Amino acid sequence: MERRSRSGKGRAFLKGRQTDPAALARICALLGDRPRRADLLVEYLHDIQDAEGGLPAAHLAALADELRLSLAEVYEVATFYAHFDVLTDEPPRPGRLTVRVCDSLPCALAGADGLAEALRHALEPAARVVTAPCMGRCDCAPAVQVGQHHVDLATPAMVREAVAQGRTDAELPPYTDYHAYVGAGGYRMLGACRAGEPDAEALVAALEASGLRGLGGAGFPAGRKWRFVRGQPSPRLLAVNADEGEPGTFKDRYFLERDPHRVLEGTLVAASAVGAEAIYIYLRDEYPAIREILVRELAILERHGWLDGLPVHLRRGAGAYICGEESAMLESLEGRRGLPRHKPPYPGEVGLFGRPTLIHNVETLYWVRDILERGPDWFAGQGRNGRQGLRSYSVSGRVKQPGVKIAPAGITMRALLEEHCGGMADGHRFKGYLPGGASGGILPARLDGIPLDFGALEDHGCFIGSAAVIVLSDQDSARDVALNLMRFFSYESCGQCTPCRIGTEKAVALMERDVWDRALLTELSEVMRDASICGLGQAAPNPILCALQYFAEDLL
Ligand code: SF4
Repeated sequence: MERRSRSGKGRAFLKGRQTDPAALARICALLGDRPRRADLLVEYLHDIQDAEGGLPAAHLAALADELRLSLAEVYEVATFYAHFDVLTDEPPRPGRLTVRVCDSLPCALAGADGLAEALRHALEPAARVVTAPCMGRCDCAPAVQVGQHHVDLATPAMVREAVAQGRTDAELPPYTDYHAYVGAGGYRMLGACRAGEPDAEALVAALEASGLRGLGGAGFPAGRKWRFVRGQPSPRLLAVNADEGEPGTFKDRYFLERDPHRVLEGTLVAASAVGAEAIYIYLRDEYPAIREILVRELAILERHGWLDGLPVHLRRGAGAYICGEESAMLESLEGRRGLPRHKPPYPGEVGLFGRPTLIHNVETLYWVRDILERGPDWFAGQGRNGRQGLRSYSVSGRVKQPGVKIAPAGITMRALLEEHCGGMADGHRFKGYLPGGASGGILPARLDGIPLDFGALEDHGCFIGSAAVIVLSDQDSARDVALNLMRFFSYESCGQCTPCRIGTEKAVALMERDVWDRALLTELSEVMRDASICGLGQAAPNPILCALQYFAEDLL
């Protein structure tokens, strides 16, 4: 099964550096009269790949020539992102179909390995079958992507049928469009903000009073962020992080597929509050239907004057988990590999293109309109067990009713399972859970009474992050679960720092042994945690440490 390491192991080299005139003519035709700017490199690589079924080497050389970049700069970006397929020795293959089988934890629990193997036998070589990290459809596991078309709860027969019938385009779900949203009072708050009632100071104060925190995972108070960015010199920018890639997380997809204008209104209000002069939306490539929705609805907003001259740039990720980390996202938006930046300086001070940048996750912006209309006390008064606000828990795994559960922040696993998920799936007994996706650790069933919120799980070696709750049963082995997660981290490590790049790889090798070397794995975990640059490497040991601490019986 084809699966390439992001950090570069096992890659072929491009041959030759001369620009082929035919390839250059093709690139010029594809780019048309669009600007030849380096920050658009990822966009242009997508255009080439969409047209040619991959990235032929001659096209990369021609693109480098056209953008006045070195071939190395283009090649390192083209090979960094999982969704780009560099055709080193092969001609273009327009129309070639790629079938992606998600093998992240919720899909693995639902039999993704066997599904991938069956599809490889059934579809290759006519289609290219690859395994892929989380597609954000964990409630419909196992998930498969045929071209741009998603097959949920996939079986080999369903995928074969989609391929045979040529169902390869994204399907738009029913959603609240512009007219329905405006009909229900939408954009009134934005209009009021633009008229100065409430003014920017009142907006910031309301956000602060609500207690809303960044719901991408970091949990930084949103109002404080607005105040900080607003105090920075202009020009200021706003970037929307719609690149949820944490295995188990699908809440941003849920909101954008159902109620995109609520997110867009929150975005425009935030831009107004901090005086942003442009908005960038970084949307993961796994969500092609949402891309179509946003293109369509943003055009309508512009026609109706709601953008008010504010440029809104919709950018497409390319299959890199690390680009959900805010500074890696900025690098990708600037047309480079998604390597996290060293902090400080923080993006609020030196962000996109070196400008002060307000970065928010989709869900954070989703709540802005409700907080302003209903008042900060409404939101702050929603929590449970001493916590504040509402959270969207993405629940997957062995529950009867997986899905996004909007519940009081601080709800416990026990209550979430019983009140929102219909209990465990038939034939499964509750064994444990991941409270915060792949990176948030693993807890045993006996610790099902901890509030699921920021700061409540750390004493147990875990964190809530984006609230991706994956439920395990007596049919699951913590050893297999931890290994699946570590393979994910090893694959997704950006390769920038040694403790993470080498540490995750070594950890996989140690975890594949029949007997885990507790002392060595613990020492390796400490090094990764202490010396990695960003959260990926720092959190990657969590599955190891939790398996050792809570599930020793699975390691025998
Ligand atoms: Fe890259 Fe280091 Fe972050 Fe790992 S910890 S993703 S190698 S910057």
